Amino acid sequence: MRGIFKDVPPELWRSYRWQVQNRIRTKEELKRYIRLTPEEEEGIDRTDGLYPMAITPYYLSLMNPEDPQDPIRLQAVPRVEEVDQNLQALGEPDPFREEGNIPGLTHRYPDRVLFTLTTFCAVYCRHCMRKRIFQEGERARTKEEIDRFVEYLKAHLEVKEVLLSGGEPLSVSEEKLQYVLSRIREVPHVEIIRIGTRLPVLAPQRFFDAELLRLLERYSPIWLNTHFNHPKEITEESAEAVENLLKHGVPVNNQTVLLKGVNDHPQVMLRLMRELLRIKVRPVYLFHCDPVKGAMHFRTGLEKGLEIMEYLRGRISGMGIPTYAVDLPGGRGKVPVMPNYLFKKEDHTYTFRSPFGPLVEYHIPDA
Ligand code: SF4
Repeated sequence: MRGIFKDVPPELWRSYRWQVQNRIRTKEELKRYIRLTPEEEEGIDRTDGLYPMAITPYYLSLMNPEDPQDPIRLQAVPRVEEVDQNLQALGEPDPFREEGNIPGLTHRYPDRVLFTLTTFCAVYCRHCMRKRIFQEGERARTKEEIDRFVEYLKAHLEVKEVLLSGGEPLSVSEEKLQYVLSRIREVPHVEIIRIGTRLPVLAPQRFFDAELLRLLERYSPIWLNTHFNHPKEITEESAEAVENLLKHGVPVNNQTVLLKGVNDHPQVMLRLMRELLRIKVRPVYLFHCDPVKGAMHFRTGLEKGLEIMEYLRGRISGMGIPTYAVDLPGGRGKVPVMPNYLFKKEDHTYTFRSPFGPLVEYHIPDA
């Protein structure tokens, strides 16, 4: 699996710190490992300073070095489309109005708040919905900022759930993570902590660290939401990371984003869902790609998502079928989008389309 990195000693390869310290950040470094096309080279040059690049050796090792359309490569190597004014014209840096008065805090739904703990990511995903934070440099929230956030929580009794996100929230030191988790646990009405992290995909070595795992277990209940987009991202290492999390009482859910060229194919999506179930990750959402400036070229039509949902139904158990959802602009919430299976209704007879073909009548007499 490690391909071009096969000579790196296992103790380094399995170290999250090594993975982060050896991230590929420049065009020259990347050219040592993969044959870049002229378009990719131009993409790296033109996004420099706006949407930076960083790729862990682990994530790079999943790429096909000869194929510019490789789904891992499309998610990690900058493209000139990111700065194409026509393609990006209708995108917004912050379509969901996440930025509020307290740095890092978004309170969109009554019962939950989002707190972005850092602007650092192990890999800067080209389709990221928070691409705007790439320009802020790599920094974590200070203790004072965390304290302000906790004061806000204490004053809002309706908040039952905290979502820690980023950037990459689990990239902060154990000391800082312990600080933020213990402070949140001081707030009695907060029941659940959810962590949105892509590290099981980008640097699963983070979850080989016993200290981190113990910390997550200690502040239970903690749920982890991750972001696998393609079956190639499911590896021995990512499976080991998930297993470790489960052993420490942390359930792992997945949110996939529908991305043109990466996973906008029913069979690819079916394979992904099957693989997720195999490593005991529950696929929860398939999100339609958001209208984010710098990521507009990844968007498909809504019909593509519906086609995929139709394909999944009947081919995999309900556990493996995510909810396809659109996040409405302006912070107006997520809405599920479903293929319509109710074909018609006459009196007490409902006619359904079956996933297996024919129309089926279903009678419900007066209750
Ligand atoms: S890890 Fe998450 S926050 Fe960071 S760039 Fe990727 S999608 Fe965005």
